[in-house]
Amino acid sequence: MDIIHLLPDHVANQIAAGEVIQRPASCLKELVENSLDAGATHIQVVVRDAGRTILQVVDNGSGMSETDVRMAFERHATSKLRDVSDLFDLRTMGFRGEALASICAVAQVEVTTRRREDELGTSLLIHGSTLVSQEPCTCAVGTNIKVKNLFYNVPVRRKFLKTDATELRNLLTEFFRIVLVYPKVQFTFVSNDEILFELPASTEKQRIEAIFGKSNARTTYSSQLLDVKTDTELVSIRGFVANPESCGKTAQQYFFVNGRYMRHPYFHKAVLGAYTGMLPGDYQPSYFIYFDIRPDLIDVNIHPTKTEIKFADEQSVFHILMAAIRESLGKFTLVPTIDFDRSGEIEMPVHTSPQTTPVQAPQIVYNPNYTPFVKSSYTPSFPSSQATPVVDAGADLLAHQSPLLLDADTPVQQYAGKYIFVPTESGIVVVNQHRAHVLVLYHQLLGQLESHQGASQQLLFPEVIGLSADEMAVMAVLLTDLRAIGWELEQFSPSSYSVTGLPAGMEPSQAVATLRSILGSVRERGGNLRSEYRQSIALMQAKAAAIPYGKRLSEEEMRDLVKRLSSLASYRVTPDGKPVVSLWSTEELDRRFQ
Ligand code: ADP
Ligand code: MG
Repeated sequence: MDIIHLLPDHVANQIAAGEVIQRPASCLKELVENSLDAGATHIQVVVRDAGRTILQVVDNGSGMSETDVRMAFERHATSKLRDVSDLFDLRTMGFRGEALASICAVAQVEVTTRRREDELGTSLLIHGSTLVSQEPCTCAVGTNIKVKNLFYNVPVRRKFLKTDATELRNLLTEFFRIVLVYPKVQFTFVSNDEILFELPASTEKQRIEAIFGKSNARTTYSSQLLDVKTDTELVSIRGFVANPESCGKTAQQYFFVNGRYMRHPYFHKAVLGAYTGMLPGDYQPSYFIYFDIRPDLIDVNIHPTKTEIKFADEQSVFHILMAAIRESLGKFTLVPTIDFDRSGEIEMPVHTSPQTTPVQAPQIVYNPNYTPFVKSSYTPSFPSSQATPVVDAGADLLAHQSPLLLDADTPVQQYAGKYIFVPTESGIVVVNQHRAHVLVLYHQLLGQLESHQGASQQLLFPEVIGLSADEMAVMAVLLTDLRAIGWELEQFSPSSYSVTGLPAGMEPSQAVATLRSILGSVRERGGNLRSEYRQSIALMQAKAAAIPYGKRLSEEEMRDLVKRLSSLASYRVTPDGKPVVSLWSTEELDRRFQ
């Protein structure tokens, strides 16, 4: 019996789909790229449940004929490539004719499409590669593809999808990579009936502002960007880089080549190289760099999902890029630094920003433990921050026993508006009051996030908080959880929320700052699991609400705090790793008195 046979088409398509369509975001990319290839000037993306249930792309592009639309869903059906030689002169986004076949192998797809010259359009229904129906219909010029229940027939893939929060972020990441190269095209992004982005046709800079700018920030995002431009035989480079003063620990970093997003770790180094000496170690510059290069000088026949692109002469491009950015930074920070102390020689202007290179204060060397009463030997005085060995020894003890058991008659004492001293059997436990409260609140908030039982206090005057489109997207994802801990929030406009109620016990004056730090922290930390961003919410909220330093506490308040702290399974460090308690052991104290 012969054992070799050809795979049925729908099986082959499902296998191919595994490569091209891994998640809703890859589906979005393929559909939007098709719309761009079809010359659309307005593209709408509509998703429900982060693209799991519905992912729809509506364009006003060329549309397809009745025959073409059926063909389009066949494997290797493409209108963009006829010959291998075409591969080397490729200016369209897609060319393999794989995307639509792959998508309809793993979803239920509805298409309506009409060309300008046709009176009637066509409507098509395909379920898992099988054509269910095709009929004429009246519809607008262009193409409307609705992908429903992605991976409905591939449970394994469905299971691999992350939370809606993560998949929505992935969708937006893909969306940004495209809309940043097509500023002249109008885009709309709707998620669960909420408009997250409404991007009019604009310039590149305006597009960047529309995505990353904050409506109520003091300065616009794009005003912190410096122009970069250079034209050489080999490559044209233009775009924007952040001025060093505006840089922080997070950054937007984008490379595009011939209208396509790419990752390029080597060129990334060139950018960082240009900033040498201008940024503190953990700071990152934002950049949006657009390369234009002859298509035959880059490797285009790459896998559609790969974002790394190979250049013919990477070293030269590296140097051209670095020089171009240096020049832009130089124009911004051109302040000649002349060092008169150096034997008459004058330094060339160096591209450093006087504001970002901190002026070194003259160093005063002092010994904090110096005491005039002891003549020679080094003796640490009592509450010294230098006395790390004490902390270490204590931390070790704390790990093994629970010295924080409070008797009714244990005296407690506040010191310096910061610390609570609690004498115990093994020594003196010093509790950092703010951090202790952060930790207690953190665990309480995590509980409320689970149980949705956070109490709320009404605000007399609702506050309106303006958010960037990016923050709006994060907010949409966090709403349920924020409400669970007592926030009362309603969307006020496409770029703002009104705050009508706060978690009980929170200072109204801190509301907006706290919300911002929650959004910022979730966005920065990311996280795939709901539990991960819940941790961010709980920590930021706890930090905002915890007893501040300098606040005088009554004995009762101190006892209450210490009791709540000691009832936690672990109370040595805050969720972000800072010590909460320190033990000055009896041995340690004894040693000091020898
Ligand atoms: P590729 O883009 O690699 O050609 P696809 O499977 O993505 O392959 O699309 C197949 C063909 O369907 C395209 O070549 C194009 O002719 C047609 N097509 C797909 N989407 C659209 C659209 N939104 N508007 C017009 N034609 C489209
Ligand atoms: Mg395509």
